[in-house]
Amino acid sequence: MQMVPRFGRRQLPPSAAKQKSRHRGGVPDRAFRPHAAESARPRRTRRPTGARGRQGRGRSAVTITPAIHHVTTFGTQPQRSGLRQAVFLDRDGVLIRDKHYLSEVAGIEILPGVIEALRALAPHFRLIMVTNQSGVARGLFTVARLAQIHDALLARFARQDVHLDALYCCPHHRDGTLAPYAIACACRKPQPGMLLHAIEKWELDPARCFMLGDQESDMLAGQGAGVRSLMIGPDGAGKHAHPLYPDLGQAARHMLAHAR
Ligand SMILES: [Zn+2]
Repeated sequence: MQMVPRFGRRQLPPSAAKQKSRHRGGVPDRAFRPHAAESARPRRTRRPTGARGRQGRGRSAVTITPAIHHVTTFGTQPQRSGLRQAVFLDRDGVLIRDKHYLSEVAGIEILPGVIEALRALAPHFRLIMVTNQSGVARGLFTVARLAQIHDALLARFARQDVHLDALYCCPHHRDGTLAPYAIACACRKPQPGMLLHAIEKWELDPARCFMLGDQESDMLAGQGAGVRSLMIGPDGAGKHAHPLYPDLGQAARHMLAHAR
């Protein structure tokens, strides 16, 4: 299947209007178009039903932030429109090897078992990647390069008949050096902004979703969005308060067995 990625930005709640112009600065219009369907919607700041609604410091004013997102043709297939459950997938350490600020397409290394796990999950869950990419704010790579990396990742997946519904990225960091992105935002995990945005956009039931990550920040983002969180990691059983799985394959078996 041909993947036609499309970047979009959600309309901001009025409280975030001030940030909007900062987000626009430096963002190439060609790569980031407002998502047509979403632009037509009225502005909303409501939290989705089922989210726990825990408000942390600094995020009480903005409930859902304009995470950069990338919707695939797979995500818009009519036969997937009834899916109310999703698996939120961290990128580095879950889908691909963590290369610490990966900035080259050539560095993409899909982890063992990922292809098989995603194939097994796809009929039952929307597959939504949620990734912090503060390398943009830190000036280590551009948004355009990040898009190249994700296009290449999607293409590698597609060649093996694996498709993601959508990709969400947070390019921000409060200590960043690149003006438009050097902000404390509500989409950077451990904040649940990307998940909340996706839950609203795809009309998901948080109680039927899972968050998979290899960091405590992933677990906190999942908790903040009211979804079940599973930790992926090589060891440390008992070290974390969250169920621990050695790889995506084992976690997939658990999710399929506990799908609601
Ligand atoms: Zn962000």
